[in-house]
Amino acid sequence: MFDYIVVGSGFAGSVIAERIANVLNKKVLVIEKRNHIGGNCYDYKNKDGIIIHKYGPHLFHTDYKEAFDYLSNFTDWRIYHHKVLAFIDGKKVPVPFNLNSLYEVFPESLASRIEKKMLERYPYNSRVSILELRKKNDEDLKFLADYVYEKVFVNYTAKQWGLKPEEIDPEVTARVPILIGRDDRYFNDKYQAVPVEGYHKIFERMLFHPNIKLLLNTDYKEVMQLDLDSRKIYFLGQEFRGKVIFTGMIDELFGYRFGQLPYRSLDLKFETLEMEYFQETAVVNYPNDYNFTRITEFKHIHPVDVEKTIILKEYPKAYRAGRDIPYYPMFTKESRELYLKYREFAENFKNLILVGRLAEYKYYDMDDIVKRALEVFEERI
Ligand code: UDP
Repeated sequence: MFDYIVVGSGFAGSVIAERIANVLNKKVLVIEKRNHIGGNCYDYKNKDGIIIHKYGPHLFHTDYKEAFDYLSNFTDWRIYHHKVLAFIDGKKVPVPFNLNSLYEVFPESLASRIEKKMLERYPYNSRVSILELRKKNDEDLKFLADYVYEKVFVNYTAKQWGLKPEEIDPEVTARVPILIGRDDRYFNDKYQAVPVEGYHKIFERMLFHPNIKLLLNTDYKEVMQLDLDSRKIYFLGQEFRGKVIFTGMIDELFGYRFGQLPYRSLDLKFETLEMEYFQETAVVNYPNDYNFTRITEFKHIHPVDVEKTIILKEYPKAYRAGRDIPYYPMFTKESRELYLKYREFAENFKNLILVGRLAEYKYYDMDDIVKRALEVFEERI
């Protein structure tokens, strides 16, 4: 009945299913446990016409022309430059922390002295991670590094991950570096835009295809079994010899045989407010105040003329297997080693391909995973 099975309909699964259907003209079954497609990128328009990201803010940005061009087959774009402010000691200052932020939080004489020293050491518009800046010997630069570490990173990271910045893989905090410049945008990629009608339309246009059978509300375990001894995959009790592209959690797939991989979860609390706008930008981070990490106001992403607004507060929490959504892999030395064990084990299954944030235990952004899925399709499918 099917040449391929894809488990999961986020970007990883949807891109691969679309390529199989359109390029190879083969039949593919997509199994999705939720009642909608799109994974955590899923969004919808509420009754007031506000587009809401059900699983938290998703802002598309990329330097990969091929990923942008590919997605442009499924959507028109609205150019959107994401800006984030951080609430620090009663003021809202741009993050990534930049030269503008410097003048907002320090007296002018101190700010200009630090600016001068930074510009002597780093090229204009370059980016330096907080962990890197903290190593500097100069008194003023050390003061700045400590300030940004204390006021922007340490408490946010404690809330978000339950760890100190130096305990989590440096790749994570390096996502938000200090900028030696005055560009207030959160990202510096060449392409920054949001899909005009929302992300869900992209997924519909990818998956609503005669070669694609979509099974919603179905946990893959209900229809598919892995025999861990014979290393065969069964679909509805019969051996399935086609390729299976799996985008879910790798530890769950193999029955947690080496133990659970750590993930971080979130409680998302939405509020409807009777006002035009609640805050200045789409996202305001609260590193040091409250139990949530940030507030997102969706109208800034897709403006609409209505006297109401929807905001979202994110409360990070420990992930409990089977009960919470595993939003983020938690990178530590131990978790990376554990993942490698699972990956090695997966190699025994000749017709199994693992792709995505959960299956590859990687902090992929949307563009990374689109690029990765296109590569996997070319190389392995
Ligand atoms: N981070 C921080 N303070 C901030 C913003 C980010 O400490 O104001 C750190 C924190 O550890 C966070 C990481 O940088 O988890 C990556 O932030 P990003 O905004 O990329 O997170 P995402 O949007 O993927 O949740």
